[in-house]
Amino acid sequence: MLKTKEYVISFISQSIGIPNGLESIYEDIPDDIVKQISVALTGKDVHTETFEEDDSPIVDEFIQWAQEVYEEVCKENNIPAVWKSKWPNNKRFAVALTHDSDSIEVTEEHLQKVKDRFSESDLKEALEGRKNLYWNIERIKEVEDKFRFKSSFYFLTSEYNVEQYKDVLDELMKNGWEIGLHAGFGTHDNEDKMKEDIVEFKKQLGYRPRGVREHYLQFDYHKTLDFLERNEFVYDTTLGFREHPGFFLGTSMPFYPPKENWERREIIELPLIIMDTSLWGYMDLDEESGMKIIEYYIANIKKFGGLLTILWHQEAFLMKKGEIYTRILEKLSKENCFVSSGITIAEWWNNRNNFEISIVEDSQKGWKCIITNAAKGMCIEAKIFDLTKSISINGPGRIIDKSEADGEIHYSIELEGDCELFYV
Ligand SMILES: [Zn+2]
Repeated sequence: MLKTKEYVISFISQSIGIPNGLESIYEDIPDDIVKQISVALTGKDVHTETFEEDDSPIVDEFIQWAQEVYEEVCKENNIPAVWKSKWPNNKRFAVALTHDSDSIEVTEEHLQKVKDRFSESDLKEALEGRKNLYWNIERIKEVEDKFRFKSSFYFLTSEYNVEQYKDVLDELMKNGWEIGLHAGFGTHDNEDKMKEDIVEFKKQLGYRPRGVREHYLQFDYHKTLDFLERNEFVYDTTLGFREHPGFFLGTSMPFYPPKENWERREIIELPLIIMDTSLWGYMDLDEESGMKIIEYYIANIKKFGGLLTILWHQEAFLMKKGEIYTRILEKLSKENCFVSSGITIAEWWNNRNNFEISIVEDSQKGWKCIITNAAKGMCIEAKIFDLTKSISINGPGRIIDKSEADGEIHYSIELEGDCELFYV
């Protein structure tokens, strides 16, 4: 089989989370679908000039199609369709909250130049030296805390020094926030420069960064991913449009990008979907239109059970449209979604991949599903097509939801450890 096709089949199977060994059901996947997915995931189908209001993730649409194919095959064979839930505790979609930090302070001269961006009272306090409008880490933490959300802060440590804030940042890390690297200009195509950035980050903070976003979203697909992987990053979250929100890679889902030879990489990419500066800068929107677009992406990603990665610059938090961030969090708090930092999402994705479900023949009961390596919060879903039968669980798992529609029963099962499912 062609390496590209092999990669695409394994990408689809992992995204859905079907049992081991069932990838072969996709052997006959049409070449044009393989091509569209492989082109999209390597960023070769990027149209920056156009922003479509009814933007849709084509790769995620194919994943949905592949899910239907899987269910159809199970139905024909009269066995249950089982697959891994995408998000912890069976949440319907996920959100990665991330903050680049392009600057942490400015001169008074600069402040005078941009004074219209701030409220009068903030400006007054800043000019009197009582408030730093460009260091908002604690302020952002405070609003996120209200909703019990965590996030990632990426620091451009090649441009400034955060050593004086080390205690604050250590405390944040201890409480579940992530401190990662905002890699400086030139690091995307020069590995020495990348290494220097890592050394500097470590000098200031005492540990290596595990998550990264390139400044100005500069990226050279295979080159940059090679550097990042060799330098032990767990994930990257650079690949997104500068000019407008959207599905730069055709997907919102976390995934393991391919190497040039179409082998799967170890590093995870969290595609960037919405950046604050696209809305206010490039698109020059007012708050309400910006909020509408954000709501559109929330709804669209929910439809696919995907991941909404949001970049909200920390230095812009007190600027006039920056306060919309709180409104976004409020909106998300009313949704059934998992909201966290980039590293938490990337580690979840790795754990989800490492837990195994496999279908075996059972001499007495025929069909049996064995689940191993289940970590906390892992759930699986099952659909059966014979209403006279049901799923039973042997081991530490429990049915948290069961619904019947269109001649199918859909189960959601929360796992507390390794267990077996039967179909009787
Ligand atoms: Zn930046």
